[in-house]
Amino acid sequence: MKSLSGVASAIKPSATLAINALSQELKAQGVDVVSFGAGETDFYTPDHIKKAGIEAIETNKSYYTASSGIAPLKKAICDYLKASFGLEYENKNICVSSGAKHVLYIAMRVMLNPGDEVILPAPYWVTYEEAIRMCGAVPVILRTDESTRFKISPEQLQAAITGKTKCLILTNPSNPTGMLYSEEELRALSKVIIDNDLYLIDDEIYATLVYEGKFVSAAAIDPELAKRTVIVNGVSKTYAMTGWRIGFAAGPQPIIKLMDTYLSHSTGNASNIAQYASVAAYAGDQTCVENMRREFAKRREYFVSRVNAMDKVSCLPPDGAFYIFMNVSRTFGTTLCGEKIENADDFAQALLKHGLVATVPGAAFGSQSHIRWSYATSIENIKKGLDRLEKFLNNEPTA
Ligand code: PMP
Ligand code: GLU
Repeated sequence: MKSLSGVASAIKPSATLAINALSQELKAQGVDVVSFGAGETDFYTPDHIKKAGIEAIETNKSYYTASSGIAPLKKAICDYLKASFGLEYENKNICVSSGAKHVLYIAMRVMLNPGDEVILPAPYWVTYEEAIRMCGAVPVILRTDESTRFKISPEQLQAAITGKTKCLILTNPSNPTGMLYSEEELRALSKVIIDNDLYLIDDEIYATLVYEGKFVSAAAIDPELAKRTVIVNGVSKTYAMTGWRIGFAAGPQPIIKLMDTYLSHSTGNASNIAQYASVAAYAGDQTCVENMRREFAKRREYFVSRVNAMDKVSCLPPDGAFYIFMNVSRTFGTTLCGEKIENADDFAQALLKHGLVATVPGAAFGSQSHIRWSYATSIENIKKGLDRLEKFLNNEPTA
């Protein structure tokens, strides 16, 4: 038979979702694994949002909508962006689709031509690199480490720009590192972006989950930058709604219009029912968001203090999101629970096998020295997982 698409065949599956599937499989087999894999909150969707979804079903919101979403949701998003981050958008600047992951892909689809270069600071969320390749474009990876708190400098950005560079992707706060760019740092990067006529995709999906420093949206600091910025966000993390699949882009009208057209021939609209539930999320009382943030803050504090009290591993306290990016490089060249550890993959595999703890190895995020833990899980699970890590580091297997 003829070969399948070369682009599709070259795509690596999502490592975060793979870890999730593996831990679910192990649990189904009766293995007592503690999972810190995919970043998905353990909270339930707040009641007022669920009720709006039920009401949407009962009032027959069962028809197609405009490909880029219903007007009340676009309006609720504009009001939310203004109230929360001082951003000025109108409905025509908003494109709603089936999750921020899909929105990101569609934004890249309408922005990129084959061969265009996209600058991607590492460590990065797993999907960006593959989504860039799925568009036939070329990821240009900028390496960072703890010494700059995993952030790129304007000089580093400038040095990576070629005649083919089209776009920079920023995640603020970052998945997997949790680091937050300050307003000053964004201003410095903004100058390079504008001077070199680049676009910016600013993934702000963790904007409300900040514990240190103040979140500032890149589009709010400079109208010139806003003209070339597509903000990506959604309900998944902010309102514990991962399964509802609603994300949005806010940006310049020419880009949003093309995204709408592209969607009209691909997914069409996102679920009508989920869109109505999302209106309740954005337009409703935001106390639920602050309550979840506070709970994450407690977990973060506990996690960081325990990890940094262990002598073979360490982590920077994350400013935001709900991940711990743990440096395991001090264990390289040693043996733990009978397994030779040469890299972060070995560490994560051995920890799963002997410690019954599932984490995501850093290679998928562009780092060979780290593993990622999601602390979007109960404090009991966190305690159990860290007790097992401690034992594992002392060569005492749990399994
Ligand atoms: N961006 C980042 C940085 C993420 O971590 C995620 C995680 N799912 C997404 C986008 C996509 O979110 P969703 O598709 O659930 O809206
Ligand atoms: N974004 C989350 C994560 O990084 C969810 C899984 C995914 O969509 O990749 O784990």
